[in-house]
Amino acid sequence: MTLHWSTHQLTEYFTAVSASADEEVAIRVAVERALEALDAEVGAVLLAGDDGVRGLTGLPVTVLAEQLRPAFHGEPVVELPLLGEANGAQAGLGSDIDGELVVARVDDEFSTEERQMLQGMAQVLGLALRNLRILTTERALREERALEARQRLELLEAVRARQALLETLLSIQRAISRREPLQSVLDAVTDGASRLLGQAPIALVLADPAEPASLIVASRAHWPEPAGTANAAREPAAEAIAAEETVCRSGPSGELTLATPVHVSGVVAGSLVAVGLDATDPAAENAGLMSAFGQQISLALTDARTVEAVREAYRDPLTGLPNRKRFLERLDQILEDPRIGTVVVLFIDLDRFKSVNDSLGHNAGDELLAAVSERILACLRTGDMAARLGGDEFAVLLEGVAVEEARAVEEAQAVAERIAVQVAEPFQVAGRPVYIGSSIGIATRADCTAAGDMLGNADVAMYRAKRAGSGQVVVFEPEMHAEQLARLELRADLQNALAAGEFRLDVQPLVRLGTGELEGAEALLRWHHPRRGLVPPDQFIPITEETGLINEIGRWVLRESLSQVAGWRRSLPGLTVSVNVSARQIIDPRFVTDVADALDFAGVPGSALTLELTETVLTTDPARALTNLRLIKERGVRLAVDDFGTGYSSLSYLRQFPVDQVKIDRSFVSGVTTSAQDNALVRAVVDLGRALRLEVVAEGIEDAEQLQALVRMECDLGQGYHLHRPMDPRLFADVIRLPRPDLITISRG
Ligand code: C2E
Ligand code: MG
Ligand code: MG
Repeated sequence: MTLHWSTHQLTEYFTAVSASADEEVAIRVAVERALEALDAEVGAVLLAGDDGVRGLTGLPVTVLAEQLRPAFHGEPVVELPLLGEANGAQAGLGSDIDGELVVARVDDEFSTEERQMLQGMAQVLGLALRNLRILTTERALREERALEARQRLELLEAVRARQALLETLLSIQRAISRREPLQSVLDAVTDGASRLLGQAPIALVLADPAEPASLIVASRAHWPEPAGTANAAREPAAEAIAAEETVCRSGPSGELTLATPVHVSGVVAGSLVAVGLDATDPAAENAGLMSAFGQQISLALTDARTVEAVREAYRDPLTGLPNRKRFLERLDQILEDPRIGTVVVLFIDLDRFKSVNDSLGHNAGDELLAAVSERILACLRTGDMAARLGGDEFAVLLEGVAVEEARAVEEAQAVAERIAVQVAEPFQVAGRPVYIGSSIGIATRADCTAAGDMLGNADVAMYRAKRAGSGQVVVFEPEMHAEQLARLELRADLQNALAAGEFRLDVQPLVRLGTGELEGAEALLRWHHPRRGLVPPDQFIPITEETGLINEIGRWVLRESLSQVAGWRRSLPGLTVSVNVSARQIIDPRFVTDVADALDFAGVPGSALTLELTETVLTTDPARALTNLRLIKERGVRLAVDDFGTGYSSLSYLRQFPVDQVKIDRSFVSGVTTSAQDNALVRAVVDLGRALRLEVVAEGIEDAEQLQALVRMECDLGQGYHLHRPMDPRLFADVIRLPRPDLITISRG
C-alpha cells in the first residue's frame, strides 16, 4: 500500500482539524481524513475514561470503548465486534490528551509509513483538542469571571441603594419622631422616593371617603408643574388602593408608573405614586422600593394619626364642605383634563349675613352658614361640588353641564336661580326667622387655564350681582375685569384724596313732619375724583372702612360738619347736623376725643350733633362701642340708628344703647303707599318709637303720597328728594331763609 497523501494534504488536514469550532467536529474531521488517507474501513478516537469512543466510523455507533479498546492493543491484527478480523493501527494523541486515533482495514496490513502518518495525524488532533480544551476552559473562566464581576457590581449597587434607602427612611423616621409638621414629613417621603427613583415625579394620594376624587397631599417632587400631578397620579392610585398591592403600569413610550398602597392603622388609606419611570433603570422595577416608602408613609400617618388632620385641612369644619384650597385643586384638576368638556363655577356671596352675625352673634351666624350650605347642596346634583370659600362666600363647581357653552351657562343660571330662591327663604336661627339672600356670579372655563382665574371671574361677576341688589345672578363678561381694576384704582387713589382736598360735603335737610319746620341736615360725604368725577359714597366708603382710612376721613367729616352747623346756628340756633359714622370709627380709642375736639373747635354744644350709626356699629364690639357712646352722650350728642329695618336688631335690643333717633330705611319708606307689608312695618316702627320715646325719621321720601302717609302716621321727621335733595352747604343758607312748610300743609290738605 503506497501512501497517497501529499504534504499539502497533511497541511490541509492540520488546518481543518485545528479550525474546528469544538472537539466533536475536530474528531470527526480527523477520523474522516484518516480513513480517507489510509483507505481504511473503520476509524475512531478512543478517549480515556468517560469520554469513550468518539467519531466512530464504519461500525455501528452502539460499539463501546470497552469493546474497541482491547481490540487495538498494539497487535497488527484486531478482532472487531461484528466485523471480525481486520488489520489495525493506532496512534496516541500526545502527552496532553489521554486517547488514541484508531483505524482498521480489512484487506492490507498497515505499512510503517502509514503508521507514522497516522501518528502525525493523531498528534495534530491531540494538539487541536488540547487547544480547544484550553479555549473552552478559558471561555468558561472568562464567563465565570464576568458573571462574578457583574454580580459584585449588582451587589454593590444593591448595597448602595439599600444604604440610600435606609438613610432616607431614617431621616423620615427622625422627622416623624421629632413631630415635624406633617406636610414636611410627607414632602420628605416623596422627595426621598423621588431621589431613589432617579428623580421621578412622586405623589402621595389620599383617598377621602367623603369625596369621589382623591386628595393629592404631597407632590413636591419634581412634577413638571403642580397641576400636572393631579390626573397622572389619581388613576394608578385608585388602582393600587382597590388592589391593595403595588401595581405597575407601562405607558405608551415604555415608561413605568408604580403605585403602592399606603395604610393607616391597617386600612388602605391612599397610595404613593411614581410616574414616568425609566423602564431600563433597575430601580424602576423595584416595586420593593416603593413598598418600603409606602410602609414608611403608613407609619408616619398612623403614628401621627394625621390623615384626618390632612383631610381636615381640605374641609371647612363649620359646614363640612370642601374648603377653598380643595375647591381650587379640584378645579385645576378638571381644567387639565381634556376629557371634561364644559365646566361652570358659581360664586355665591350671602347678602346681609354680616348683620345677622353682628346682631344675633357668632353662634347664630355659624348655625346660619351650616343651614345655607345644606340648602346649596340640595340644589345640586351628585357630581357637583360645593365649597365654602370663607366667611359668607361659597362656590359651586358644575361638571356635568352641556357641552355647548351657551347651553351650559343656561343650565348654570338655572342652578344659581334655584340657590338664590332657596337662600332667600327664611331660616330659623337662634329661635327666630332670619331673612338673608345671595348674590351669585357665574364663570365658564373660557380663556381660563388656572382655577384661580376662573374663580376670580366668577367673583367679579358676583360683585356685579351684589351691586344690582339682593338675589341677583350675573354671568361673567370680560369687561367686568375693567370694573374690578377700577375698584383697585379707587383704592389706590383714596390714599391721597383727603390730602388733595378731593372730599366735599353735601347736606340734605331734615324736616319736622308735623310742622314743616327745618330740623337740620345730614352731612353726606362726596368725593370729587380728578378723573372720574363724582364718586358715590357707596363705592368708596366700604373701601375706606377696609383700609382704615375711614378714621382719618371721618375726623375731617366731623370737623367740616360741625363748622357748618356752627354757621347755620347763627341764623337758626336750634339747627342740628347729622353725621354718619362707621363701626370702625366708634371703636377707635381716639373717637371720643375727636368728637369733643371737633365740638370745641366749632364752638357748638353737643346737642348740635347727631351721630348716625348703623346697626353693625352696635354689635361689632358692643362693649367698646357702648363705653364710647356713653362718653359721647355725656356731651349731649344725640345718637341715631341709620337704615333701620335692614339689619336684625329689634327696637328693644336698641334700648340697650343710648339711642335717641331711628331712621327708617328708604326701602321701606318707598313701599309705604304700595306695599301693605312696608306700610305696616313703618307704622309699627313709628308707634314703637313713640312708646320707647325714640324720635323716628323717614328716609328717602320721594313723592307727595309717601309724605302724606308718613304725616298721617305722625312720623316725627322726614328726609328725601321730595323735600330736599342733598345740596352744596352754601345753598343751605337759602333753605334756612325759605323753609317750605307749604309742602307739609299741602299734603295735609
Ligand atoms: P345714608 O346715611 O342712609 O344716607 C342717605 C342716602 O340716601 C344718601 O345717599 C342720600 O343722598 C340718599 N337719599 C336721600 N333722599 C333720597 C331719596 O328721596 N331717594 C333716594 N333714592 N335716595 C335718597 P348717599 O349720599 O349716596 O350716601 C350713601 C350712604 O353713604 C349713606 O347712606 C351713608 O351710609 C354713607 N355715607 C355718606 N356720607 C358718609 C360719611 O361721611 N361717613 C360715613 N361713614 N358714611 C357716609
Ligand atoms: Mg345717614
Ligand atoms: Mg340711611
